[in-house]
Amino acid sequence: MSLITQAPRGTQDVLPDSSYKWQYVEQTALSIARDFGFHEIRTPVFEHTNLFQRSVGETTDVVQKEMYTFEDKGGRSITLRPEGTAGAARAVLEHGLINGALPVKVSYITSCYRYEKSQKGRYREFHQFGVECFGALAPQADAEVIALAMQILKSVGLTDVALHINSIGCPTCRARYHEALKAYFASYAETLCGTCQDRLARNPMRILDCKSPVCGEIAAAAPVMMDYLCEPCAAHFAQVKGCLDAAEIPYQVDTHIVRGLDYYTRTVFELVSPQGLVVAGGGRYDGLLQELGGPAQPGLGFGMGVERLLMVMEEAGCRFPAAPQCDLYLAPMGEAAVSRCFALATALREGGMTVEFDVVGRSLKAQMKYADKLGARYTVVVGDAELESGVAKLKDMTTGETEEVSLDGGLYTLLRQKTLDRELAGVADLFSNVAEIG
Ligand code: ATP
Ligand code: MG
Repeated sequence: MSLITQAPRGTQDVLPDSSYKWQYVEQTALSIARDFGFHEIRTPVFEHTNLFQRSVGETTDVVQKEMYTFEDKGGRSITLRPEGTAGAARAVLEHGLINGALPVKVSYITSCYRYEKSQKGRYREFHQFGVECFGALAPQADAEVIALAMQILKSVGLTDVALHINSIGCPTCRARYHEALKAYFASYAETLCGTCQDRLARNPMRILDCKSPVCGEIAAAAPVMMDYLCEPCAAHFAQVKGCLDAAEIPYQVDTHIVRGLDYYTRTVFELVSPQGLVVAGGGRYDGLLQELGGPAQPGLGFGMGVERLLMVMEEAGCRFPAAPQCDLYLAPMGEAAVSRCFALATALREGGMTVEFDVVGRSLKAQMKYADKLGARYTVVVGDAELESGVAKLKDMTTGETEEVSLDGGLYTLLRQKTLDRELAGVADLFSNVAEIG
């Protein structure tokens, strides 16, 4: 196949037969975020490269191996965003939101770009739903963000995704932990991958997140941060767990979660599907805003992979709303009928109906075949006789039954009533998705 008709490796097209599923999960996520007081922010696809170097961190896989970085025609180093937090943090600082009412709570759906080996569930262009909360230090903020992520999964019908949480402490307690890690990894220095040998000196915690199997095996027995938490960090973590317990949100403490980005402190969490796919990851990053030159205000949030979420939903057999369907196909016969049908279609669409009619100039037989392919629920044929009498037959394409209907108000009223009945049934069906709220 020629390159012109082939999308770049690691990218996907979302075709009309599945885009409604994307719309469903995106709208669900944004609307639940609104219930929690998070409102949408939109930031650019590209930023100055140093924003990501600073925030994501120089020693991370993302910065070292995965960024799409290029020089623009003005000689600036530009990077396509590999994640959503850095841009949101930059915008919150740039527009002074951080100096207004706190906390600042934003949500987003963004495309992200990482030069990764493409494989199932791992793309070079992917999408994240995410939220950020800046200016809240209390542990209930962590619990709230986690509860938000869990509620999204619940409301799309995913009840068996496990919540894994951990605390990776603060710079104070981490210093002692770094020493312990260095001592541990030093005895394996020769065996670690090249990147991790460099990390050993600069940021030994990053070794814990290395994807190389050799490093992974060595890291499995490394000391864990949980044993090194200072008293305030330990108390903070205990209170996060206390809130989750109170709301009966089940979780497991997983001392091996470190997260792939440098900016994390204290709480980190991952939502893991029964097949082991990480649907969302997040946590707290109390040093991020300051690292970017802003005030010493804490931050936290999560990123949820939209592709991964959809994949896990399909695997779990979750329900989606019905695919969009055509309410009515209007089939004109003859020129006079075409303009009458055009006017009718326009009026019915204004009234909220989904209507199609012939824009190709097909024979009646070909039109009916097309209506069938579209899955139109009803059809109306308009020829000379119908034009004259103002009455036509509304045909139910599933049952084959027909009903006489006037082409003026009658068609709209009848169709409206029929589609309303169907919509109500659809809503009731979708509601069976929503797990019982305790
Ligand atoms: P992983 O350990 O799987 O590489 P990560 O730690 O790099 O994940 P984050 O930066 O936390 O991932 O991104 C948040 C979420 O975005 C992930 O939990 C995942 O659902 C999704 N995600 C990350 N990278 C990709 C990718 N290349 N393709 C699709 N989804 C991704
Ligand atoms: Mg990654």
